[in-house]
Amino acid sequence: MWDSDIETADPPLGRCPVCDVRIPAANLVIAYDTAGDWPRMLATCPDCEGAVNPV
Ligand SMILES: [Zn+2]
Repeated sequence: MWDSDIETADPPLGRCPVCDVRIPAANLVIAYDTAGDWPRMLATCPDCEGAVNPV
């Protein structure tokens, strides 16, 4: 039995702060785990193709 809904396995990282497009988890470049601060992620936006911090 195949689950045809596997795309929902990875929740989106967030939205592009530039163009407000939802960024899928597959676009994650690197995740910073900053001590004492909130985690920061760097991902490529599928729309503007820039390296952004998902919000
Ligand atoms: Zn964008």
